[in-house]
Amino acid sequence: MSPSLPLEDPLVRMHRELARALNKDPDKAKWVMVIDLARCIGCHACAVACVSENKLPPGVVYRPVMEEEIGAYPNVRRRFLPRPCMQCENPPCVAVCPVTATWKNKQGVTVIDYDRCIGCRYCLTACPYGARCSDFAGFYTNATAEADGLILGRKAAAKGYEDAAAPEYGKAWPPRGHGSPIGNARKCHFCQHRLAVGQLPSCVTSCIGRATVFGDANDPASYVRECMGSPRVFRLKEEQGTQPNVYYLA
Ligand code: SF4
Ligand code: SF4
Repeated sequence: MSPSLPLEDPLVRMHRELARALNKDPDKAKWVMVIDLARCIGCHACAVACVSENKLPPGVVYRPVMEEEIGAYPNVRRRFLPRPCMQCENPPCVAVCPVTATWKNKQGVTVIDYDRCIGCRYCLTACPYGARCSDFAGFYTNATAEADGLILGRKAAAKGYEDAAAPEYGKAWPPRGHGSPIGNARKCHFCQHRLAVGQLPSCVTSCIGRATVFGDANDPASYVRECMGSPRVFRLKEEQGTQPNVYYLA
């Protein structure tokens, strides 16, 4: 059974703590995520919210929710594991980039300069978590019939989503043409553009199970620090020495 939630909605607390971290000195914050697997119900709301927030094209997914069946018949159940970029403390993806287009920022997030990236995809191969995708400029309505006047169809999709600019890193990146981020590596960046205006990452606010906790690991009174101290805590592929900044609660 999942542990009970506190009386105050954790989102309210996380928003308050985010404001505290940003008021302090944003460069002194260390952004960390904790995902409580006992609370994840596999609804994929976080994955969809991320696609919508970052205007991701087909094949580019920053936060897939992995699923597996565990147990033996008839005692089987499904287990879900959301897998964003781990924002590794020691990221193999950074070391292999030949043009220094990717690095760790002051708050510990691995970021990409889309205009510097040459699309060689070395980083996709180097990441042990499969957290990076390449943007091949696909569209969800490619090869679908036009249905003018209806909700579905190429024109409606272009007006509503497919022509919308991606807001990542505080810029407006057009999805068509030959400019960035088309051809680039793309990945989760803890919604840098939302943090800059005092908002939590989209996956955090959309999580109906309140399974995703986000905050400043340098704040000893924060909810995220509380979760990091749980006896249920673990990280993925620790043996690789990547030191992920995404933690899980078993
Ligand atoms: S999870 Fe992969 S993409 Fe993210 S920082 Fe680590 S190595 Fe880089
Ligand atoms: S795809 Fe871009 S970010 Fe990745 S290694 Fe190549 S140049 Fe660097």
